[in-house]
Amino acid sequence: MLKGTALLLLQGCSGLANRTLDYLPPHAHLPSRRAIETAAAVQTDLPKETCVTHEVAPMETVPRLAQMYGVTERELTEANRLKPGEALQPGQKLIIPHPARYKNIVPVYENDRWQYIVIHHTAGKTGKALLVDRIHRERGFDEGLGYHFLVDNGSLGKGDGQLEAAPRWIRQDEGAHCKASNMNVRSIGIGLVGNFNDQKPSAAQMNTLIQLVALLAIHYQIPACNVLGHCMVPGAKTDCPGHRFPWQRFQLSLQQVMPASSMLARS
Ligand SMILES: [Zn+2]
Repeated sequence: MLKGTALLLLQGCSGLANRTLDYLPPHAHLPSRRAIETAAAVQTDLPKETCVTHEVAPMETVPRLAQMYGVTERELTEANRLKPGEALQPGQKLIIPHPARYKNIVPVYENDRWQYIVIHHTAGKTGKALLVDRIHRERGFDEGLGYHFLVDNGSLGKGDGQLEAAPRWIRQDEGAHCKASNMNVRSIGIGLVGNFNDQKPSAAQMNTLIQLVALLAIHYQIPACNVLGHCMVPGAKTDCPGHRFPWQRFQLSLQQVMPASSMLARS
């Protein structure tokens, strides 16, 4: 069924026609809550002869990186002389030998707590998961990066529209992104790098966001009316995700890529 949904997503929005959405085997390494599938939202073909250096984000793993870059786990471990099962360290630089492409990987888990999706901007011009994790720790969030996903903007060595799945998502923990209306507990927090009071998000960021939100909304049966900007949450006193976030266009795009059944309220 989900595979059919993926096709609908691709056919529903011509702007995403050159992007792929695959379903890949489950992660073997994931804790308590089993990843039932993973999906890729954005694909960029890379020249075959290229070697890429990848800076490891918090809780990134060899299997996930192998999926992202279309290489085998063995190729990755051998190129970097990693011991079997060796945990990667945030900030560690890895050589990706001859990556076939880059894909955004979205692990999906069985969990009925996710009833809303809340969208944020980081309010900073540049960012990546490793940096936002540090900033949030300095702000007093013991578990670091408060969002579940971060959509990069091409700064600090990350790609424009690159998706980073944060540790809170991998662990299926509550977020630290929106206290109002108890949203930390029941919503998926997505942060986009940028200050959208100053400028709009990039087209690549919006493409990733639309595909990610549609995929999560369909999987967790979250109705479109429960996809909110931070400032739209009752009780939230903020202008996040910024005055220039194109909310109407985002909602229209979402309607195009989400099948009608998923627009209905939860029963
Ligand atoms: Zn926010």
